[in-house]
Formats: sequence, structure tokens, C-alpha cells
Amino acid sequence: MSVAELIYDWNKVDATLSKPDRHIGFDDETLRDGLQSPSVCEPTVEKKIELLHLMEALGIDTADIGLPGAGGTHAAGVEMMAREIANKKLKIRPNCAARTHKNDIIPIVEISQRAGLPIEACTFIGSSPIRFYAEEWTLDKLLQMTEEAVTFAVNEGLPVMFVTEDTTRADPATIRALYTTAIRCGARALCVCDTVGHATPDGAHAVMKFVRGIIDEQGEKVRLDWHGHQDRGLGVINSIAAIEGGADQVHGSALGMGERVGNTPIDQLLVNLKLMARSGGHQVLQERRHGTCRSDLLGCARGPVWPEASDRDWTDERQIKCSFLAGESRPGSE
Ligand SMILES: [Zn+2]
Repeated sequence: MSVAELIYDWNKVDATLSKPDRHIGFDDETLRDGLQSPSVCEPTVEKKIELLHLMEALGIDTADIGLPGAGGTHAAGVEMMAREIANKKLKIRPNCAARTHKNDIIPIVEISQRAGLPIEACTFIGSSPIRFYAEEWTLDKLLQMTEEAVTFAVNEGLPVMFVTEDTTRADPATIRALYTTAIRCGARALCVCDTVGHATPDGAHAVMKFVRGIIDEQGEKVRLDWHGHQDRGLGVINSIAAIEGGADQVHGSALGMGERVGNTPIDQLLVNLKLMARSGGHQVLQERRHGTCRSDLLGCARGPVWPEASDRDWTDERQIKCSFLAGESRPGSE
């Protein structure tokens, strides 16, 4: 019997999601957002480097390796990770967070030059009216900061991803002004953030479609990223909706670690996109072992029913239910 005769797949009956016509990248935020989780112990640099190697083994495309503008031992750790990537010729591409200010960009330039590899500067800035109100910002001020910082980073030879915080609660005119300025100054990636986990799948899809339209108007080749949080438990489905809306890359962290209730769990994202045939080249079957390693390295517990990293292996369970398809005897037939 064929699989189609044995399994009726309702997922395909009224499907609204299509397979993307482009590579969908994964950005791992474990070493930045992840370490802001109240449940995580700050790992040593050696453990962070182990985590980098686990990301590499999973086929993760890019990793946030920290905010060197924080200085001190944190900056030294960022440099050691950058050197590890360069020396071991890892495929994973590093990026670093920075406020949209020269002072945070200069340390990235210096580390990039000393390590001898490009590091994408992810310059972040607020974008929602509630942030403007709380911080007493004006749009003109933020546009000026954007222009100065992005131009500076580009002139120093860094690839730039321009990150707007709280984008899912920002108005279209502000989003358009910020992103248009960033693209004109040379940013070649934009990141839409659901900083407080506000979005629903409809919202994620709509804002990504809107930003994709802004990119198309500018006529430059610009990568579009989605960065989601888990406050409503919608991290994975929002990422899928964001891809449908135009995202080229989605962000997550190991076991969903991050501030408050965490980021999109990259583990679950990898598995779901693989099952939905929306990712290629990522090593999902290694995820279980790596999930265990990562929870040890981060000093945090993982849930007993975490589907990709649980002792109760989801792949085994799925296979038990259809094992005789692979030529094994039918359950109860002996
Ligand atoms: Zn975040």
C-alpha cells in the first residue's frame, strides 16, 4: 500500500501556505537574547564556542555572538568566538548587536578586522509610538541616528542589518521612513521585530508583506529577517506566517531561551519548517542530541515534553505509528 492510501493528510486539504521559492535562513539568537533568560546561567566562553559548533552542525546560517559595545570580558568573548569561526573555517556567519550609534559599531569593526572575517552589524533602534512616548524620541532624531550609524558601518566595510524594535506595534509611515533611510545608507538586511510577542500570524504576515513592498520599491537586493518572541506562544506559527509574508530569514534561540518567556524556539522552528518542506540543508535529525547538549551548556532545564529534545523521542513515536510502512511487521500481527 502507498503512504497516500494509509494516511489522509488534512494539512493539505485547504492549504493556504506555499513552499517558498528561496532559501530560508535561520539566525540563532541563543548567545545574545538567549542569555537574557532568567533561567539561564551565563556560559563560559568555552561553552559558548561549543554552542557555536552545535549551531554549525545543525546547518544554522547565522549567529548573534553578542554586543561587543558592552566592553570588558563580554567583548573579549565575542572576539574569541569570531576567531574560532575564522580559524576553524566554520560556515556559520557571525553577527553582533549594536545600538544605532558609532560607539557600539566601532568595537565590531575592530573585532572583524582582528579576526579577519566579516561580522554583520545589527544596529537596532525603537520604532513604535509607545517607545517614542516613553523615551521622548522624535522620528527626525531617529532618522538622523540611522543615517549616521548605518553610513559609518558601511564605510567601515561592515555588512549591516538594520533592526527596528517593536515593529509589530509601529505605524506604517515610521516603518517606511526608517527602512527607506537605512537602505539608502547601505543596509542590505532589515529585521522586523516582534519584541514583546504582540503579533498574531495575521499581523506577522501583514507587516512582512508591507516591508517587502518597501524593499521592492527601493530596487536593492535586501534580505528580510523576522525576529519573534514567545509571549503569546505564537513564535513558530508567526515565523511561518512571516516567511509567507516575505521573510528570507527567521530568528530563534535554543529551547526558546530569552528574556521574559523567551524567543521563538529555533529547535521547533527547524523541525516544523522541515516537515512543511520549507527549509533545506538543516540537520533536523541531530536536533534531539543537540537540544540535550544545549540545555546542559546553558545550565537550564528543558521541559519533559519538549518535542525535539525530549527523552521521549518524537521521531520514534512517529515511526512506531507507521513502522510497517518501512517493511516491518504490522503491530499485533505476530
Ligand atoms: Zn529579541
